[in-house]
Formats: sequence, structure tokens, C-alpha cells
Amino acid sequence: MKLILLGAPGAGKGTQAEVISEHLNIPTISTGNIIREALKSGTEVGLKAKKYIDAGHLVPDEVVIEIIRNRLAESDCQNGFILDGFPRTIPQAEALDRMGVAIDRVIDIEVADETITQRVSGRRVCPACGASYHTEYKKPGVEGVCDKCGSTLVQRKDDHPDTVRERLQVYHDQTEPLKAYYADCGKLVIVEGQEEVAETSRLTLAAVEG
Ligand code: ADP
Ligand code: ZN
Repeated sequence: MKLILLGAPGAGKGTQAEVISEHLNIPTISTGNIIREALKSGTEVGLKAKKYIDAGHLVPDEVVIEIIRNRLAESDCQNGFILDGFPRTIPQAEALDRMGVAIDRVIDIEVADETITQRVSGRRVCPACGASYHTEYKKPGVEGVCDKCGSTLVQRKDDHPDTVRERLQVYHDQTEPLKAYYADCGKLVIVEGQEEVAETSRLTLAAVEG
């Protein structure tokens, strides 16, 4: 199964990607995580991306398209994958089509902007393994510590309120048109994000299976 997860920043794509990934035993490919890794290790991609990420803007299409092209060529993608955070623009979606990637379904997780702003301010991430938490909705076992690897959790720089507003604007301008793009070819399924993560997960799995 080849899936795309669409949704505003902080809509819970990452969490739902994890749920599907375990359920179907296919990898999640998060362009955000790949770019943050590149930033951390100071590679060329990381250097190119930094100013865009920090401002809440999208990294240029050609950079992320190359990332995806290379990642999808790896052997663990043969039986399917979940794209979390790609495509985010129409040109990225067209590039994916040109690569001959036949997407089965696009799951759009809908969450109101006000909810997003609240949620993202409580988001904490693990700088070592990329796991994501929330100070209220998805607490780690020990406050401020990653359940998976024990590292100290941090707030992403781009999760600060001003940057979040910018990212939401970018989402509405550049990413939201993808809904129509994938609705037109009959691939779009909408999941209404719920207050309870488990409830959203139930709807997401139903959307994957239905
Ligand atoms: P979120 O889903 O919470 O917005 P991500 O971790 O997916 O965050 O992405 C963080 C940042 O990485 C984005 O704001 C953007 O700058 C960059 N990025 C990730 N994926 C893409 C993409 N497909 N195209 C352009 N930029 C991207
Ligand atoms: Zn961790």
C-alpha cells in the first residue's frame, strides 16, 4: 500500500503515520524528519534547508523531490510506504506522478486552525530519534524524556507561535490545493481529527482499509 498523509502542520500526521506503519508493517517517510536529520549532521541539504525551516517556509521543491526520489529507491519501500509531509505543493505531486509512483490512497487529516495553534505550542520532540510528544495529549512516561531512547525532549524552533501562523498560511496557500488534485483522481479520503488520538487512529485505519 502506497499512502500519502495530508494535513496542516500539527494535524497529527506523524502520529497517524506511526499507527498505520505498525498496522501494515510499511515504513513512514517523513520529509520533515529527513530534513531535520540533515540539519543536525550539517549536510548540504541541511544547510540549504535551514533558513526556510526556521522561517516556517517550505524548502524548495527540487530539494525535497530529490530527497524523496532517493528514499523511495531504498529496498524497504518495495512493499509500500507512507509519505508524511510530502507532497506539499502541486509541483511535488506532479514530480511524484512523473516518477511513476502509483499512490493508492491519500488520507487528509482535517483539524481547525485554532486547534492546531494550541496543539503545536505543546508539541515536544526528541532530537535524537524524532519521536513526537505533547505536554497534554501525548505525555511521555517521564516528563521531558523520550520513551523510546531516553533523550531530553525539546520544542522545535518552528513550533513557536509566530512561525506556526506562517506555516498555517503556507499550508492553506500551497498544500491545501492538493486536496482537489487527489480528489479529482478519486484517491482522497478525509479523516476528521478528533480530540482523542485513539479515536482519530480508529478513523484513520478505517480509511486505510475501507
Ligand atoms: P509539520 O508537519 O509539523 O509542519 P514537518 O516536520 O513535516 O512539520 O516539516 C517541517 C518543515 O520542513 C516544514 O515547515 C518545511 O520547511 C520543511 N518540509 C518538510 N516537508 C517538506 C516538503 N514536502 N516540501 C517543502 N518543505 C518541506
Ligand atoms: Zn528519542
